[in-house]
Amino acid sequence: MIKTISYLGLGTMGSGMASNLLKAGYKLTVWNRSAEKCEPFARKGARVAESPADAVRDVDLVIYCLSNEEAVEEVVFGAKGILSGSSEGQIAIDMSTVLPATSLREQEAYAEHGVDFLDAPVFGSKKESADAKLWIMAAGNKAIYEKAKPVLEHLGQTVHYLGKSGNAAVMKLVGNLIVALEMEALAEGLVLAQKAGLDLNTVMEVVKVADFRSPLLVSNGPNILKRDFSPSFALKLMLKDAGLIEKFAGSLQSPIPALRVVEKNLESAVTLGFGKENASAVIKALEKEAGVEVKAR
Ligand code: NAP
Repeated sequence: MIKTISYLGLGTMGSGMASNLLKAGYKLTVWNRSAEKCEPFARKGARVAESPADAVRDVDLVIYCLSNEEAVEEVVFGAKGILSGSSEGQIAIDMSTVLPATSLREQEAYAEHGVDFLDAPVFGSKKESADAKLWIMAAGNKAIYEKAKPVLEHLGQTVHYLGKSGNAAVMKLVGNLIVALEMEALAEGLVLAQKAGLDLNTVMEVVKVADFRSPLLVSNGPNILKRDFSPSFALKLMLKDAGLIEKFAGSLQSPIPALRVVEKNLESAVTLGFGKENASAVIKALEKEAGVEVKAR
């Protein structure tokens, strides 16, 4: 049974998950590159580690949720990385959104140290992470998945087993392809409605009930109308994911023409300086082109 856990990466997603592990009663160690993000956890009784290597000493399980490939490279494979401190019989779970090839590389490297690995990325954002309502996918050895599942159930409302290592990372990219296109569709639709002079609150009322409705549209639309772009899922991360999808789909010669258009739009929004805003700020690139601002009257 898993009793001691290290959580590394206390960003938007990681901080909610680490809090929920504390609430669930696990003995928790935390580590974050910017040390100040560990302070609230120390106050609640978590041990603060000095490095990823230090964090994984004497724990049953290490979980991390980091920005991108570079962060995983540093935290897992770096000089004071997880691998340099881990020991046989431990379990490692990567909840970051990374390439399936990265998950496989992690799995192989951990196996050399006798550590079992699951790739377990998530759907949901800041609120779902804080409320333990994430939609989690996990892949790797089935027996290890079963062992880790009770922990993951403290973080999400669903946990799906995807099969062999890397498959959960694939599912995450498939899902984010759909997310990116939905966000772009919402942005293009709202800009068109604004240009045509529709009442945008009424537009969102229709979007909420029509047969194309989705939680993503319903949660992002009203915030756009309020001009609230505070980040739950940063636009620069959406652009990072578009790059991962492009790379992965390219490796399988799977066509992604619409994603390529969205990626360009995301790039324009980042160039305009909106990378740290929510991914819904992709609309700002369209607004600039259209010469309008989408706002409820
Ligand atoms: P975030 O708020 O930017 O947090 C990123 C975390 O990674 C922080 O702890 C950051 O440390 C750490 N980090 C970045 N570069 C690092 C490096 N070189 N070395 C060590 N640590 C590093 O991002 P997030 O929104 O939590 O997202 C984390 C992951 O989950 C990403 O892969 C993202 O695509 C994925 N995801 C996000 C959402 C969402 O809605 N936000 C949803 C699903 C999946 P510092 O605090 O020091 O910067």
